[in-house]
Amino acid sequence: MIHQNLQLIQQQITEAASKCDRDPGSIKLLAVSKRKPIDSIIKAHKCGQLLFGENYLQEANEKITQLNSQNKVHWHFIGHLQSNKAKLAVNLFDMIETVDRIKIARSLNKFASQQDKTLNILVQVNIGREKQKAGILEETSYQLLKQIQELSNLKVCGLMTIPPNTPQPEDSRIHFRNLRELALKLADHDLFADPDNIELSMGMSGDFKIAIEEGATLVRLGTALFGTRN
Ligand SMILES: *Cc1c(COP(=O)(O)O)cnc(C)c1O
Repeated sequence: MIHQNLQLIQQQITEAASKCDRDPGSIKLLAVSKRKPIDSIIKAHKCGQLLFGENYLQEANEKITQLNSQNKVHWHFIGHLQSNKAKLAVNLFDMIETVDRIKIARSLNKFASQQDKTLNILVQVNIGREKQKAGILEETSYQLLKQIQELSNLKVCGLMTIPPNTPQPEDSRIHFRNLRELALKLADHDLFADPDNIELSMGMSGDFKIAIEEGATLVRLGTALFGTRN
């Protein structure tokens, strides 16, 4: 099942990319394995999937520790992160996609520096301006990135967003477009580590094709790959 899903997804990514003249190789698939057993991760890994995303630190800790022997697996954290858990997060993950305030950035930087490593991060933007949602508002993103620039053990690779939940994937298009435009504006101020290679983490199972049309470089898929979660 996972094997077939993965093949189908890869085909869909390729189709969406060619539709808008993009190189399919410029789009990475993050397999979101939250609340799925290690077995599922191993299955996907055997099919060649090397990039996984987790939302909950405790759960991720157990999985990553157990899978430690599997080399070449990369882990992204995509959940809400508290400062008092920053040390563990730095230990476990290759990238934190959900940095949305200076306090958490400073904690991550502190522990990254203690571990003598450079931590890849994305800044999460609340592009749909939802009251209950994490992420920084567009108008304060410049200031946050400017502050993060001072933190020498963090590497800002790009932006991430979760648009408002909707049954209509097309509704997400404007939000994806806005995130890309914001990234281009911020890039004008030299706020990304690699201006020629800005990561845009956007698009989930329901709307990733549209996200690709709007410039996603990283799509985060759970359900489409592993099936529905309980
Ligand atoms: C759970 C989750 C996903 C995956 O969602 P699906 O709809 O199952 O593909 C992607 N991104 C984030 C931030 C998530 O929490």
